[in-house]
Amino acid sequence: MVDGCLERMNNTVSLASENRAKSRILLVEDSRVEARTTKDSLERAGYDVEWVEDGRSAIKIAKTKPIDVILLDLVLPDISGREVCRYLRKSRNTNGIPIIMLTVKDKVTDRVAGLAAGADDYLPKPYSYLELNARIYACLRTKALRDELEKKNKQMAAVLERAKLLADTDPLTNLFNRRSFEVILEHEFRQVVRFPFPLSCLMIDIDHFKRVNDMYGHRAGDTVLVQTARIFKSALRRSDAAARWGGEEFLILLPQTENAGAVKVAQKLLKKVSVHRFSGLPDESITVSIGVAGLPDPCINSGESLVNAADRAMYEAKRRGRNTVVSTQAGVME
Ligand code: GH3
Ligand code: MG
Ligand code: MG
Ligand code: MG
Repeated sequence: MVDGCLERMNNTVSLASENRAKSRILLVEDSRVEARTTKDSLERAGYDVEWVEDGRSAIKIAKTKPIDVILLDLVLPDISGREVCRYLRKSRNTNGIPIIMLTVKDKVTDRVAGLAAGADDYLPKPYSYLELNARIYACLRTKALRDELEKKNKQMAAVLERAKLLADTDPLTNLFNRRSFEVILEHEFRQVVRFPFPLSCLMIDIDHFKRVNDMYGHRAGDTVLVQTARIFKSALRRSDAAARWGGEEFLILLPQTENAGAVKVAQKLLKKVSVHRFSGLPDESITVSIGVAGLPDPCINSGESLVNAADRAMYEAKRRGRNTVVSTQAGVME
């Protein structure tokens, strides 16, 4: 029986040693004699031990230092161990630290109260160092598993976020793709139906883009698309949404923007594109044609009809010679 016990002890000590480099124990004990012997024993087992004598100091250390396990005496000179425990469980950066309550009170009700306050384990005094070690090790193992799980969850969340980004954006320009733009449009349209704010939409098409590809190659054409998208992004507000609608067509949604404001934005974009020097296209200026549509407008009753109206206005801009803005609401489309 003693042999078995020694074997377990050796196991426990060697298990503790495995964690030696990382494991920091916060010992909260107001009896100096007990604290000294416990601290010595834990340090011999390979732990880093920080010792404090009262509850407030314990909270301060737990909040500011990387602690792996807390050994918490129940009766302390300032606040009770149970209160310390409750406080640490409520605070976000301390609620994952395992707590082992240490106390001479050993009635079932005391143990239950300790666990109810948030302790992970309970050890009556006087305790054997063998048992204390084994319980610390069990807490560390659980914490390591939980930390690993948390890490995996974070990695998974990052992967999901990346996947969502890839699914929502056009890989060439990084603007929203058609599918995600339709979701945004649907959402904005529903908002406008509930709260009658203005909502504007720009359909933008690059003029004679086929010629750019023919003269300078498809790669140069791609560069024009990327740089045009950048011009749009840098000129828009964060609340606006820009998408690549098709090959060289872009859609921009301007929430809470009335027609006059949207026309101004369109003219600004038109100008910025026409003065931009595109890399790989020396002495060549690129222009765009822009159609503007928006709410309020009695003829527009859905996101789709808003896009169609902007598209019609854009074709009118093409018909009028390109490099121009046409709005459905400016009395110029009759
Ligand atoms: P318009 O002024 O009437 O709009 O003339 P356009 O030449 O711009 O229009 P058209 O529809 O005739 O040609 C569009 C061109 O856009 C044809 C197609 O090869 C090119 N295009 C579409 N997608 C891409 C792309 O991802 N990269 C490149 N480089 N070209 C593309
Ligand atoms: Mg005490
Ligand atoms: Mg086109
Ligand atoms: Mg075009």
